[in-house]
Amino acid sequence: MSIRTPAAPRTIEVTRADSPASPRQGTRIRLERVTKDYGLATPAVDDISLTIEPGEFMTLLGPSGSGKTTTLNLIAGFETLTSGTVSFNDREVSALPPHKRNLGMLFQSYALFPHMTVAQNVAYPLRERRMPKEQIRRKVADVLELVQLTGRDGHYPSQLSGGQQQRVALARAIVFSPNALLLDEPLGALDRNLRAALQTEIRRIHREVGSTFVFVTHDQEEAMNLSDRIALFRDGRIEQIGTPEHLYQAPETLFAARFLGDSNVFELGAGAAGGSVAWGGREWVVDPATVAAHPGVRERSAVVVRPEDISIARTSEGVPSGVNSVDAVVRDLEFMGSYRTLVLGLGAADTPGTARVPAFEAGLTIGEHVSVWWRPERQRVVAA
Ligand code: ADP
Repeated sequence: MSIRTPAAPRTIEVTRADSPASPRQGTRIRLERVTKDYGLATPAVDDISLTIEPGEFMTLLGPSGSGKTTTLNLIAGFETLTSGTVSFNDREVSALPPHKRNLGMLFQSYALFPHMTVAQNVAYPLRERRMPKEQIRRKVADVLELVQLTGRDGHYPSQLSGGQQQRVALARAIVFSPNALLLDEPLGALDRNLRAALQTEIRRIHREVGSTFVFVTHDQEEAMNLSDRIALFRDGRIEQIGTPEHLYQAPETLFAARFLGDSNVFELGAGAAGGSVAWGGREWVVDPATVAAHPGVRERSAVVVRPEDISIARTSEGVPSGVNSVDAVVRDLEFMGSYRTLVLGLGAADTPGTARVPAFEAGLTIGEHVSVWWRPERQRVVAA
């Protein structure tokens, strides 16, 4: 019997040569007080500072119009800064044109050359850099293996599926060992299953190549699935930045809580510094550790509880002591396989809410009056 050791990160030819980008050795990208003002009511990007660590997978997430693409274009050099600086590994690049920044780009449209084969498309950036033929041949073979397109070298883009074309574009974007790979909604044009498959591919390729990836999306699931860290954008500013787990578990604001995952939201108005708060005639325990550090909490706050942290009691006697609870009505029941989603009306105001309970917790009916409860340490008091 042989014992399998975990595979070491593969050092592929693509990452060697000029920039030795083995895992965690990409370029550090630093934005300092960056603003882009198009002369509209508010700047597209409004005084943001952000450091993307070498080899990090950073996602710029946010609603449409929040400034993600403009930020990516400022990193790429497609847009000029109104103020602030962009640097790569402590070298300022603010005034460098795009072609001197040595970045890989991947867009929603694959932008492949239709009259060139897969191999010719992928070789293009290397030919532009006047790399010797034999080295080009090896690098193209290596990168096509990396994106699992070995054997397709001679195909034309029109002979490939959308997903395969996007993998060719990805191969072309990383074959020259760029300082970083910038990806602007690259999976936006693909259907759901293909999207999921390519997310897995992109994660694997990021692990193997080890360079810095900056990914723009408005899709929170995609961001959570892919990223080391997420910068959540709102109106040209960064609302919050952190690991997916941190943003999900410890949102600072109602915007962050709502943008990443489902929540039950109880608006409080002013002040929940710790101790207790009142909602709908109930007094709730507030563990100070669950109050967001955000200064806005003092003016307007809300209690946020994730659906998986909500429990249901059929009677108020079934609510354990030391927890927070509220009366609710079951508005709908959705069977999701391993669990059930309850659509709830919370409190006298019938505030919409949701809970996720084990599928075997049977017997609840639509219209039934219940008590919902959660442990105070599972709630989060955020700025509303
Ligand atoms: P996102 O990528 O988050 O959807 P963008 O960065 O594309 O947002 O846009 C941010 C804001 O800047 C939007 O209000 C958009 O209309 C504006 N904007 C983007 N590009 C331009 C431009 N070239 N000229 C004028 N306004 C622009």
